[in-house]
Amino acid sequence: MSRAAKRERFWLNGRFVSESGARVSVLDRGVLYGDALYEVVRFYGRKIFLLDDHLDRLFDEAEAIALPKRFERKAITRAVCGLVARSEKPDGLVLLQWTRGEGPRRLAPPPGLRGTVFAIRFDLPTIPAALRRRGVNVITLPDERWLSTHIKSTNLLASVLARKKADEAGAYEAVLHRGRGPRARITEATSSSFFLVKRGRLVTPAVRGLLPGITRSVVLAVARKEGIPIEERTVRLGEIRNADEAFLTATSAEVLPIGRVNGAPLRHPAPGPVTKRLGRAFARFRGRVLAGTPRVAPA
Ligand code: PLP
Repeated sequence: MSRAAKRERFWLNGRFVSESGARVSVLDRGVLYGDALYEVVRFYGRKIFLLDDHLDRLFDEAEAIALPKRFERKAITRAVCGLVARSEKPDGLVLLQWTRGEGPRRLAPPPGLRGTVFAIRFDLPTIPAALRRRGVNVITLPDERWLSTHIKSTNLLASVLARKKADEAGAYEAVLHRGRGPRARITEATSSSFFLVKRGRLVTPAVRGLLPGITRSVVLAVARKEGIPIEERTVRLGEIRNADEAFLTATSAEVLPIGRVNGAPLRHPAPGPVTKRLGRAFARFRGRVLAGTPRVAPA
């Protein structure tokens, strides 16, 4: 394999391609309507972390919205492994995107669509170690996304605008809420799940209607094992003010302490003791899972 082929970062509809070959039609429904799903998986030392969980989520959602199944799970697994094999770096992310495919422009999907599937390998976004230690700043914003946020749709305009506001405010993330005032219901952040800690109890919005975050479920599992009491329930915006600690979870960020919310520090300087404990427990879980995960041989 040539050096250029070895570094290919793109896979499109069955082929590894260079960036110039990674083109979809302007009539693709992913482009026209955001009629598509996505998934992000992470690899550590060329081992893909919890790939089955990510593929389960993707295929369940694809079934829920009746996306045409252009590729079986095996082919998509091979695509992800191929991109990891072609990576010069042992660690990174692979984005998978699956659209309803190309066809005449009309909202109701015409019959006979095949679907479009592509994957792109990315470097991990760098979160400076000092920021990770001190905790990130977040702002709170109304959740203007569609209501079916348990579907990881590429229709992300509301999230883009919320992140733009967060960026402009010098914040890392926006924590979203539905409703107004202190009784507004926290949902999640634009690309992470949200947790707070109050008097040693771990509190997180119940997942119904929200993205079932894979990192979130790992954190809940390790918290249970650690004997930390868990409350999965409606979480009110006003509760942040009295929280001892808060953190975000996501595939790329793992367990990320929050330092300030709308400029105000939490009760415990970040990372608080429960966040730290869960961060360590998450790392141990990850180590155990990766120990039993095959390493993708470099191409
Ligand atoms: N919530 C939203 C809205 C997300 O987009 C993401 C990740 O992209 C998450 C939560 C975290 O999910 P996971 O832990 O599966 O990466």
